Amino acid sequence: MSQSLSPTAREPETVESIYPEIAMYIDGRWTDGSGSRREPIVNPATEEILGFVPLAEKSDLDAALAAAERGFVVWRDMPLDKRAHILHRAATLLRERSAEIARIMTMEQGKALPEARGELAGVATTLDWNCEEGLRAHGRIIPRGPGETLSVVREPVGPVAAFTPWNFPAGSPMRKIAASLSAGCSIVIKASEETPATACELVRCFEDAGLPGSVLNLVFGVPAEVSEHLIPSPIVRLVAFTGSVPVGKSLAAMAGAAMKPSMMELGGHAPVIVCPDVDPVAAARSSARAKFANAGQVCTSPSRFFVHESLFESFVDAFVLAAEQITVGNGLTTGVQMGPLVNERRLSSVHNLVEDARRRGAKVLTGGNRLPGPGFFYAPTVLTEVPMDAAVMTEEPFGPIVPIVPYADLDDALRLANSLPFGLAAYAFTHRADTVDVLTRGLQAGILSVNHAGGSVPQAPSGGFKESGFGREGGSEGLDGYLVTKRISHRMAI
Ligand code: NAD
Repeated sequence: MSQSLSPTAREPETVESIYPEIAMYIDGRWTDGSGSRREPIVNPATEEILGFVPLAEKSDLDAALAAAERGFVVWRDMPLDKRAHILHRAATLLRERSAEIARIMTMEQGKALPEARGELAGVATTLDWNCEEGLRAHGRIIPRGPGETLSVVREPVGPVAAFTPWNFPAGSPMRKIAASLSAGCSIVIKASEETPATACELVRCFEDAGLPGSVLNLVFGVPAEVSEHLIPSPIVRLVAFTGSVPVGKSLAAMAGAAMKPSMMELGGHAPVIVCPDVDPVAAARSSARAKFANAGQVCTSPSRFFVHESLFESFVDAFVLAAEQITVGNGLTTGVQMGPLVNERRLSSVHNLVEDARRRGAKVLTGGNRLPGPGFFYAPTVLTEVPMDAAVMTEEPFGPIVPIVPYADLDDALRLANSLPFGLAAYAFTHRADTVDVLTRGLQAGILSVNHAGGSVPQAPSGGFKESGFGREGGSEGLDGYLVTKRISHRMAI
């Protein structure tokens, strides 16, 4: 059965939302940059133009680099309690402004308003957590005997060049800003041109909290032009990227050519293994909530379902029901659970995956179609009888598509789960400790969730294996990439 937009889901709430003017923030000043190039920002739920984002010229990027170089010294040398005061103040401002920023995020990105609010609550906590970790990023003294001290100190690596995508317009930039600033680094961040207003609002919180202007610089531009200018610059000491595997590989290569460390949070294609000992309906409902969050545009989204043959049918039926019960519409409308895809490009890419599966013999049990416009809406889609060589089984779908495959033997499920070059997230449903043990040891993924499909938390690390990247964001590991370790041995006599 194919879906339509729910009839009540068209009209957004009547509360007026003002979409702000977009500018870059360079050396403590809001600026349109030195050129005249700009790009429209489109509301994916209505296809209306919300505003325009200015694109940086080389001279703007040079100004941001020079500011970050100066800002690094100012920030590194500021007493830590003063730094922490500014960062905690920015987190407080974010909480105070989160209702308005959430509405702006939904307008430019499309996700349902409650999800946008949840993301903003999370970013304030991320900032507080990283700030506290920065206070604890100390070294150690190693005993050597009288007349000599041997110590290890950890210092901020230097100015960071960061690049973030549109799917978490606040969460993704904040992970990089919070880690940079908490470690004592300055940063030039190119946030997504598709969701620039949320990034501007985050930066405004730091500005209003008293962060020295040169420390945090926000630019927009033609992505490849910006990365090709920033990464080789001798001012930049660390490259941090979240986005697709192909772009991540090219940026990591560019960083490697300049012998700079990089942190890569790239895509995945998360397997979900549903074992025979669980309630298939509960497992399907829990998976569906996670799958359709942000219309499936999440790097850790559960996206390949391997379900034991004994409960395959019940699981599929429950998933189809859950998919058909999702209220799709403008994310600003009360009751909407799933918004549009972010742009026309994503919409056709998702539909092409479904068409490819269909051509190869897959059954489309629900969805499989674009929903009537305006807006880039795609119906929650469930597929069965999907061959393993269908593109949807090998390419990160980044959309609301659910291919479900039966398995007979856990080893087979594990082999299929590990068969792709990705290794970001994995999920399992089972109550058996021995099965959890097998899966914990066997799954090649940086994040494993058992009996739930919940998201990341600031106090634990996130990141991938294999082509899903390297480096960890969050947890006590989260500042490691932003710090360098220095050994100092000091003899009292020559
Ligand atoms: P993309 O890789 O082209 O863009 C993702 C982000 O990277 C965007 O913000 C873009 O501005 C930036 N980017 C692209 N090329 C760049 C470059 N040369 N230098 C610097 N930044 C650059 O992805 P897309 O077309 O928006 O989406 C396609 C696929 O990317 C998705 O299907 C998904 O698989 C993946 N993706 C992953 C994540 C993630 O969180 N890991 C986020 C967004 C997209």
